[in-house]
Amino acid sequence: MILAPEVETRPWEEQLALDDAAYREQLAYLLERSPFYRDKFAAAGVTDAATAGGLAAIAGLPLTEKRELRATVTPEDPIGAHLCAAPEEIVRIYSTSGTTGAPSFIPLTASDLENWVTGSARSYAASGVQPGQRVATTYNAGPFAAGAALASFDRIGLCHVPLGSGSTERLLRVIELLRPAAAVLTPSYAAYVVEWAAERGIDLPGASVERVLVAGEPGGGEPAFRAQLEAGWGARVTEAMGIGDIGVSLWGECEAQDGMHLGARGFVHAELIDPATGAARALEDGAAGELVLTHLRHRGAPLLRFRTRDHVEVRTRPCPCGRTGPRIRCVGRTDDMLIVRGVNVFPAAVREVVSAFAPAVSGHIRVRPPAPGVKQEPPLPVSVELARGADPDPALAEGIRERVRSQLVVQVRVELVPWGSLARSQYKSTLVEH
Ligand SMILES: [Zn+2]
Repeated sequence: MILAPEVETRPWEEQLALDDAAYREQLAYLLERSPFYRDKFAAAGVTDAATAGGLAAIAGLPLTEKRELRATVTPEDPIGAHLCAAPEEIVRIYSTSGTTGAPSFIPLTASDLENWVTGSARSYAASGVQPGQRVATTYNAGPFAAGAALASFDRIGLCHVPLGSGSTERLLRVIELLRPAAAVLTPSYAAYVVEWAAERGIDLPGASVERVLVAGEPGGGEPAFRAQLEAGWGARVTEAMGIGDIGVSLWGECEAQDGMHLGARGFVHAELIDPATGAARALEDGAAGELVLTHLRHRGAPLLRFRTRDHVEVRTRPCPCGRTGPRIRCVGRTDDMLIVRGVNVFPAAVREVVSAFAPAVSGHIRVRPPAPGVKQEPPLPVSVELARGADPDPALAEGIRERVRSQLVVQVRVELVPWGSLARSQYKSTLVEH
């Protein structure tokens, strides 16, 4: 279902023209209201919106990093110098938990929240769910921005059955009794539920769920991993992706399963950069790089050229669903990336290669870099979990090693470990253990 056909099938050139006008207004708003961007632009020689130009010139402006925003937080200014709206305009504040433990805050005005839900609803509707169907969700609303996505299910016209995380038993009971047509989970949790049901003799593929919507971490778009989930659930798996500082479920995959469409089109502008140098890369078919996002109509604490740390691949060829614009697939987080003799290695890509050896393997892996930091010497140790009851076969290890070498151009040392020996996650998986 296309929730807003006039928007989602608009020729992309027309979208960019509309976005250009919105962007120029957003820039003027930032210069007027944002101490953070006033300083940042001044350092780059930009003192008024006209000098900055339009979207075509956006790559001439500086990038924004999360740590820069955090650096402006003080006890008197707990949100940071990028806050633009007056306190009485803010209707909601989400938190993110940083690695240091100090939360950072995401303030939203009423129109920000409305735009988040609008974009998120388009992204999730792309999965093929239909108004009137039931959807069981497993996100915890809590303090996190992901909670805002929950409102998009009502918006689509679905009957929303919120379950939160932490009770697989409840989820399976709800599937049995309320027979939802769709379920929303992280890819890791979706995989966990498959094993949990199989261990208890529950026929998940025969149950009511026809669509599994995954988000929250990369993986749902990896063909081999997706095939495992689809077999385990007896359902079509599509993915969605957002980033707390910019918006929830900004992107959502359609039934063609060939990358995520920008549901938040008109609200957010997407760019691609070289993660090492920050240089802009054209958003063209087959391009890859780090995703950089800019708010176009945001009021609370808008961000410009925000580095998402998500490494994506781009598709621009027409999609059979009729939605226009570039599509992306996230191949991993820049933060998880390792560099082995100059070659970038994403742990999720290693998992994808290994998953193709199912049913001999369980699909669970751990990359175990011996050195601290990003740069590693080959061979890179990888633990690969075997399928239930399988014996370690040196030929299997050699086959995996060889395919990783040929597909990812990296030397690994494969250690086969028994089924069940790598910890499962009911939220997001850890693929790397230093
Ligand atoms: Zn499509």
